[in-house]
Amino acid sequence: MAIIEVSNLKKSYGQLDVLKQITFDVDKNDVVAIIGPSGSGKSTMLRSLVHLEKVDGGSITVAGDSLVKDGIYASPQEIKKITTKMGMVFQHFNLFPHLTVRENLEIAPKMVKKESATIIRERSSQLLEKIGLINWADAYPAKLSGGQKQRVAIARALMMNPDILLFDEPTSALDPELTGEVLQVMKGLAEEHMTMIVVTHEMGFAKEVANRVIFMDNGEIIESGHPTELFENPQFERTKAFLNRSL
Ligand code: ADP
Ligand code: MG
Repeated sequence: MAIIEVSNLKKSYGQLDVLKQITFDVDKNDVVAIIGPSGSGKSTMLRSLVHLEKVDGGSITVAGDSLVKDGIYASPQEIKKITTKMGMVFQHFNLFPHLTVRENLEIAPKMVKKESATIIRERSSQLLEKIGLINWADAYPAKLSGGQKQRVAIARALMMNPDILLFDEPTSALDPELTGEVLQVMKGLAEEHMTMIVVTHEMGFAKEVANRVIFMDNGEIIESGHPTELFENPQFERTKAFLNRSL
């Protein structure tokens, strides 16, 4: 069953059409990799799903609820309910520099105030164990390596128990020797059947972990398919050219 349904998504910045009739579904437990050249609209598409960008037309449905339908947005209350089902991990981590690692994890659930401090503390400890950073709980982000920061950002997203995790080039800002530890955490989540959409340049990760790859170019989905299919037998020249540059 589709947990995310995107249809005919459109967005322009002035004369520039950034998203042109983007249509795709994500099923529960899918790991979808989105690849494509810089400027093809990948970030805009991902940010539209969590309402960090507004689209000009089309529909986005998350777990049966419409965030936007034919260009008309749901109410602010409804939008909030829908977007909290999704967690987002950014290229540049976006940790709060003035908060410790543990405080970074706990701030959002504490603001929502639905759970006791004890429950939140248990979950932050569990997640810090899981990403191997329990000993860094009281450190400030500035003390961490990029790979550690990104692992904290992933744990922070998981604190809200999202149904879907979105990643926008989570390893692109990292030194090559630090990408492995982040990809390892993401692979672990995939093995636990987390539903994930990952914009990435890591073709190895896409091949190994994703069950579907979407190739975007110039605001359009050119083709999508199982990684073996798409990487070994791309149907379109634009996909071939991009893969030849990237593999
Ligand atoms: P990608 O993530 O695939 O590199 P983006 O979604 O970031 O692509 O950008 C798609 C296009 O939209 C690019 O041409 C970019 O310059 C343009 N763009 C993105 N954000 C803005 C903005 N806030 N204002 C104007 N143009 C933008
Ligand atoms: Mg981008």
